[in-house]
Amino acid sequence: MKLKNTLLIAIALTAAAGCARKDQEDTGAPPSAELALKNGAIYTVDGARSWAQTIAIADGRIVYVGTDAGAEGHIGPETKVVDLKGRMVVPGFQDVHIHPVSGGIEANGCDLNAAATVEEYVAIIKKYADAHPDTPWIKGGGWSMAAFGPGALARKELIDAVVPDRPVILWSRDGHTVWVNSKALEAAGITRETKDPPDGRIDRDPKTGEAVGSLQEGAGGLVADKAPPDTDAIRDAGLRYSIRMLNGYGITGIQDASVNEEDLKTYRRLDDAGELTLHVVGSIWWEREKGLEQVEDLKRLRGEYTKGRIDAGTVKIMQDGVMENYTAVVLEPYKLKGKDGVRGIPMVEPELLKQAVTKLDAEGFQVHFHAIGDGAVRQSLDAVEAARTANGDLGHRHHISHLQLIHPDDQPRFRKLGVIANFQPLWAYADAYVTDLTLPFISRQTASYMYPIASMEKSGAVIAFGSDWSVSTANPFEEMETAITRLGSLGDTTVPFLPAESIALPEALAAFTINAAYTNRDEKDTGSLEVGKRANLAVLDRNLFEIPPAELSDTKVLLTLFEGKAVHGDLGAL
Ligand SMILES: [Zn+2]
Repeated sequence: MKLKNTLLIAIALTAAAGCARKDQEDTGAPPSAELALKNGAIYTVDGARSWAQTIAIADGRIVYVGTDAGAEGHIGPETKVVDLKGRMVVPGFQDVHIHPVSGGIEANGCDLNAAATVEEYVAIIKKYADAHPDTPWIKGGGWSMAAFGPGALARKELIDAVVPDRPVILWSRDGHTVWVNSKALEAAGITRETKDPPDGRIDRDPKTGEAVGSLQEGAGGLVADKAPPDTDAIRDAGLRYSIRMLNGYGITGIQDASVNEEDLKTYRRLDDAGELTLHVVGSIWWEREKGLEQVEDLKRLRGEYTKGRIDAGTVKIMQDGVMENYTAVVLEPYKLKGKDGVRGIPMVEPELLKQAVTKLDAEGFQVHFHAIGDGAVRQSLDAVEAARTANGDLGHRHHISHLQLIHPDDQPRFRKLGVIANFQPLWAYADAYVTDLTLPFISRQTASYMYPIASMEKSGAVIAFGSDWSVSTANPFEEMETAITRLGSLGDTTVPFLPAESIALPEALAAFTINAAYTNRDEKDTGSLEVGKRANLAVLDRNLFEIPPAELSDTKVLLTLFEGKAVHGDLGAL
């Protein structure tokens, strides 16, 4: 592995040096760079996957990538030269499915992400409530359904015991369920008589019909809509938290998987203040209770908010729920005791979905689908196919996120339709969500095509990665490790899950860099380290090609540059 690598570096360096000479001929004497990082192992992710030693930066852009010797013409008396001491450099990562505003607000609120048991959850809730006696509603999240055990529900009594006096609303880590106390149910007026909304379910006691305290999918809105809205200050603080965290992971571009106008305003405020040290594509939420008439408003939002570091040219359509509560749309019914024919909840009626995608495509939008079950994936592909038939290939790079199940018949359709496969690779291992909450309810046949990342890679589809943070960690090294090993990155499993679906490091890196930039329609400017592109990069504490895959998750980012400026770490401390 190491030998092959060294060979690759030598070849690449020759190519890069040639490139630099050409660059100098074209422009005459090159202007001196502001910053040069030399003596590194720079993995450029250019078309040839070249390695280089030095990268030079002026005006936020890359002016040179190549050998140390070839860089001399770019280094003048004003140039700050930093010795990388052989450290690895990668293009800034891009996460193409993430929730930074809500995730950051949650992290600053009653945050359960770090806990693993119900007892710990209750202790954190009590501690938070005691520390915030004047907060009228306690909001937060980050709990995991798996902590409650197979088939068990999050119950109101657990919270009532520590917070009896005011409403508490806590989102599950996957965002599909809310856990509330009695005061919150009361505030929302939820009683035995309250009917389930069409897009969700109020979990009830089978004997009394009373709400138990967990609300699935759209039913969560019944309580959430009653909670006081977050102030601008809370929203800004939440986004600041996320930006700091993401820059710390070497992330310099994202696609927010669900924005409304308030979110776009939050991004705009921080961009105007010079604090948005990320490029942001906002996927504007498609309101499933409305029809095609909402496209006019989507166009207005795109027009008003696309500028600076924000691109609001994407629309998010959530087509199903999740497997764990049987709301993901599946081709073969769930195996449920006493309940036949449960196939999940299609959030948008499939014929309307076709019309919506056709119209959005014609209006120049990218569509970002949420589809987990193989049925929802098929409905999404059918909708893109309808758009293709009506509009031809307009090149809007529609993409489908999550992709827990892709029926083999549908796998080649991604490439054919130009649909990007947007995986959350951290989920592709046998954790309790998979072993306890999913596998018992689907057939072996269906289970055999779960998170088929390598199959999709082989099919020729573009593969891009996102974390879905705050559902799970936004640490790209943990995510890449699981993509490669199909094991929990924290050593939590020992048997690889469908190991034939594991991919290699170069593909994993491409999915977080150039392919993610392509998904964010920004690959001319970002996603690789090439002359003319923005100087967005991360300096790592180890060479990812020289360590066993199981150590990828230990990687630390020493320095992140965004448009040539350090946004994490310190140039002087390298
Ligand atoms: Zn999401």
